[in-house]
Formats: sequence, C-alpha cells, structure tokens
Amino acid sequence: MRLILLGPPGAGKGTQAAYVCREYRIPQISTGEMLRAAVAAQTPLGVRAKRVMDAGELVADDIIVGLVKERIRESDCENGFLFDGFPRTLPQAQAVVDAHIDIDHVVEIRVSDEDVVRRISGRRVHEASGRIYHVIFNPPKVAGLDDETGEQLVQREDDREKTVRERLRVYHAQTHPLVAFYEGRSETSSVRFSAVDGSGSVDEISKAIATALNAHDS
Ligand code: ADP
Ligand code: ADP
Repeated sequence: MRLILLGPPGAGKGTQAAYVCREYRIPQISTGEMLRAAVAAQTPLGVRAKRVMDAGELVADDIIVGLVKERIRESDCENGFLFDGFPRTLPQAQAVVDAHIDIDHVVEIRVSDEDVVRRISGRRVHEASGRIYHVIFNPPKVAGLDDETGEQLVQREDDREKTVRERLRVYHAQTHPLVAFYEGRSETSSVRFSAVDGSGSVDEISKAIATALNAHDS
C-alpha cells in the first residue's frame, strides 16, 4: 500500500498517519520530520533548511525529491509507505510520476483555515519521537510532558501564529493544486483519490479515512 496524506499544515496528517501506518504496517515518511532531524543534527542541509522552514516557505523541490527517493530505497518500504507532507508542489508530484513510484491512494484531509490555526497554535511535540499532542484537543497525561518518556514537550518554532499564516498562504498557492492534479490522475491512471472531512474529532477522521481506504480496496 502506497499512500499520500494531503492537507494543509495542522490538518492532522501526522496524527492520522500514525494510525494508518500501524494498521497497514508501513513506514510513515514525513519530509517535515526528516528535515527537522537534519536541522537538529546541523547537517549542511539542516542549516540551509532551517531558515526556509522558520520563514514558513518550502524547501527546494530537488532536495526534497532526492531525500524521498533515497528513503524509499530502504528495505522497510518494500510493502509500501505513507507520505506525510510530501509531495507539496506540482513539480514534486510530477517527480513521483516520472520516477514510476506508483501511488495507490491519495487521501485529502479537508480542514478550514480557522481550524488549522486552532490546531497549530496548540500543537506540542516530543522532539525525539515526533509524537504529537495538542494542549486542549489531545493533551498529554501530565501537562507539558511526553506520555512515554516524561520528557519536555516543545512548540515548533514555525508553529507561532505569524509563520502559520504564511504557511497557509503557501499551502493554498503551491500545495492545494495537487488536489486537482490527483483528481485528474485518478481518472487516467490507477491512483485513487478521496477527500475526507477533517473538521471532526481524531476518531471520526480515522474512521472516515479507514472507510475511504477500504471502499477502494474492495
Ligand atoms: P506540517 O506538519 O505543519 O504540515 P511539516 O512538518 O510537514 O509541517 O513541514 C514543516 C516544514 O518543512 C514546511 O513548512 C516546509 O518548510 C518544510 N517541508 C516539509 N515537507 C516539505 C516538502 N515536501 N517540500 C518542501 N518543503 C517541505
Ligand atoms: P499535520 O501533520 O497535518 O501538520 P498534526 O497531526 O500535527 O497535523 O496535527 C496538528 C495539531 O492538531 C496537533 O496538535 C494535533 O494534536 C491536533 N489535532 C490533530 N487532529 C485533530 C482533530 N481531529 N481535532 C482537533 N485537533 C487535532
């Protein structure tokens, strides 16, 4: 199973990806997580990417495509994978096609800009594991601490309100066109496209995604 989760920043892609990946036993490939790991390790890529990410802009297509191609050559991707936060531009989506990486399903999580801002402003993460919380909607057992390790949760630098608006603008301009791209391809190739309402609870959205995937499987 090769899946793409599409949606604005803060839609709940990472949250839902964790469930889907457990269910289908496939790795979650989050380009955002890969970039944050490069930033933390202060690699040359990380140093360059940090500036771009903090400004809410997108990292260059060729860098991202290179990272993803290398990642999916690893053995854990033999039975599939889930792309979370990739592709994010039409050239990235075209690069997936050109590399003959056949995607089975694209699931778009549809969320309003107001919900995005509410979700992102309360997002807290455990940096080492990438576990995602929300101060109100999905709080940890002890405020500010990761459930598994007890370590401090942090707010991502790019989750401050000013950057969120810019990320939303970039989403509408550069990433949302992928919806039409995949709707079109679903008519001319084997890729399936479904959109789910992302305004409900985490459980409701999980069920909607499972239904979309199962409907297409059978
Ligand atoms: P979110 O979970 O809020 O959607 P991500 O963790 O996916 O954010 O991405 C964080 C940042 O990393 C993005 O704002 C962008 O700067 C960079 N990034 C992640 N994935 C990509 C990509 N596919 N193309 C370009 N930049 C990316
Ligand atoms: P993305 O990967 O699309 O950027 P996340 O999965 O990181 O999104 O979710 C963004 C924030 O919203 C997190 O704080 C998460 O806990 C919270 N969240 C995720 N799904 C929901 C939901 N259905 N309702 C309310 N909050 C949610």
